[in-house]
Amino acid sequence: MIRFEQVGKVYPDGTTAVDDLSFEVREGELVTLVGPSGCGKTTTMMMVNRLIEPTSGRILVDGEDIAGVDPVKLRRRTGYVIQQVGLFPHRTVLDNTATVPALTGWKRARARERAAELLDLVGLDPGIYGPRYPAQLSGGQRQRVGVARALAADPPVLLMDEPFGAVDPVVRERLQDEFLGLQATVGKTVLLVTHDIEEAVRMGDRMAVYGEGRIEQFDTPAAVLGTPATPYVARFVGADRGLKRLSVTAIEPEDLWAPPVARLDEPAGSAAARLGAAGARWAVVLNGAGELHGWVSVEALREAGEPATVGEPARRMDAWVPVGAPLKQAFSEMLQYDAGWVAVLDGARFLGVLTPAKLHEALRRSVDADAQGVPREEVAFDSVADA
Ligand code: ADP
Ligand code: MG
Repeated sequence: MIRFEQVGKVYPDGTTAVDDLSFEVREGELVTLVGPSGCGKTTTMMMVNRLIEPTSGRILVDGEDIAGVDPVKLRRRTGYVIQQVGLFPHRTVLDNTATVPALTGWKRARARERAAELLDLVGLDPGIYGPRYPAQLSGGQRQRVGVARALAADPPVLLMDEPFGAVDPVVRERLQDEFLGLQATVGKTVLLVTHDIEEAVRMGDRMAVYGEGRIEQFDTPAAVLGTPATPYVARFVGADRGLKRLSVTAIEPEDLWAPPVARLDEPAGSAAARLGAAGARWAVVLNGAGELHGWVSVEALREAGEPATVGEPARRMDAWVPVGAPLKQAFSEMLQYDAGWVAVLDGARFLGVLTPAKLHEALRRSVDADAQGVPREEVAFDSVADA
């Protein structure tokens, strides 16, 4: 959708801002550009809507070399969100949001209707916030208006330059989540600039890590964190990249261990005998619909005996996560409930459990074989899996 081919920019004073950039942003993809201040991120961004012209190479949008596209038409296809937000102070929030549609020739009433829809979409009640002026909003609300305004003409491409930079960390995280939710519905092709590695990892389908004026690595967050391409990238992503990777690696069905299972209405004595014969010391308890009820130890089943059913000695289990959730969430559940395992569900259906050993295996998926450490096969994991 957006394709950079060996793009360079040397400013008239001789400063090389970027050099030999080649990468592609696919349709509907969110790519983050991350790097220290002055590494060329904003320059890269502004070349996409021709606020800055490259001095070498070319940029294609939708297969078309933008050097030949009228900049005004090009800018209609690209929404632009900047850190300073840049709202007109003497216009209401509604009119600010309606600016672009109004400029592109929409009837005033229709432009305002559209603006109201968009304010709603970014979580601002148009009845309350529409008539206000920018100075009457909090920083986070102004940022939301900036996003609404960029979306107003429904451009296929969004350029976001440090869009959440001007707000405190708590608000920033909320805005990031909101935007990801919004992006899941609008599916724009997004280029997002940030100097914050956490934001780049959190928001990006893929990320470009900038060194000075060039891309050091362009890949998924999991791959960048798992196998940094250069010592520079490894330093930039931080010594805790292993921990960061927990939040970008999703739980997959093949990561799960299938524990022994008992049914809620099964007679306790026969369940004890069956599980004992299989060498199990505990079992996950499911109801008739295959949904998680909890767990039970074989010892408790034996003590309960007939005519009790499994349900009587069974304990409830609250540590669970949906399949597809990040490993970090599973780890956090284990810590919160002080549990040796966490159940993984698909809707209400029980799929299996994640144990510390399985968690570690899943985490290793995105690491190169040459990672330093003790080979997995040589480690005896002490976990509930073999309890
Ligand atoms: P970033 O957004 O990553 O902080 P920029 O793209 O703004 O970086 O700047 C990249 C480099 O180009 C910096 O060294 C900056 O000083 C320089 N630069 C930016 N704009 C100009 C300009 N108009 N003239 C000369 N140098 C510039
Ligand atoms: Mg910048």
